[in-house]
Amino acid sequence: MTDSTPPTGGDAGDGKAMGLAEFLAHAHAMEAEAAERYALLADQMAVHNNPGVATLFRKLADVEGRHAEEIKTRAGDTGLPRLALGAHRWSDAEGPETIDVGEAHYLMLPYQALRLALRGEERAVAFFGGVAETAENAEVRALAAEYAAEEQEHVLEVRSMLALYPEPGEGWADDPDPPSTPD
Ligand code: ZN
Repeated sequence: MTDSTPPTGGDAGDGKAMGLAEFLAHAHAMEAEAAERYALLADQMAVHNNPGVATLFRKLADVEGRHAEEIKTRAGDTGLPRLALGAHRWSDAEGPETIDVGEAHYLMLPYQALRLALRGEERAVAFFGGVAETAENAEVRALAAEYAAEEQEHVLEVRSMLALYPEPGEGWADDPDPPSTPD
């Protein structure tokens, strides 16, 4: 994993004909998936004896999980419509805020974990920002703008956490005792 990897996805959401229910379904799917992924990464880091990054991911999982719950509450009694497989308005198979498991390294340092998180949060800003700009439905526009602002807050939080960690030098991935892989 290098930091020169171009950000994946990052597409601005297209909210053109999006109704409120469809928007909430997208937002919920996105936040729930991001939360699940952060939790999975936290577990992986814990298994690999990387408690610092595990804690960080666990914290981010909580934040996104709470957001998913809020969206569910907002949807109210009518509930969230199920998004048909492949019917979501993002180009990747995974939601814009979801961290790619393949980019996580078991020896990564908080700095790298936060860089991954930063990209995810930036993609979330781009998605909601795009919907806010393109939606014809005024309620969707307003809510998307609100969510974009919230994600921008996450971006700033991750950035301030990043400032606490130095950029790792070369050799951070050297493992004196590598996990054995069966051949
Ligand atoms: Zn977020």
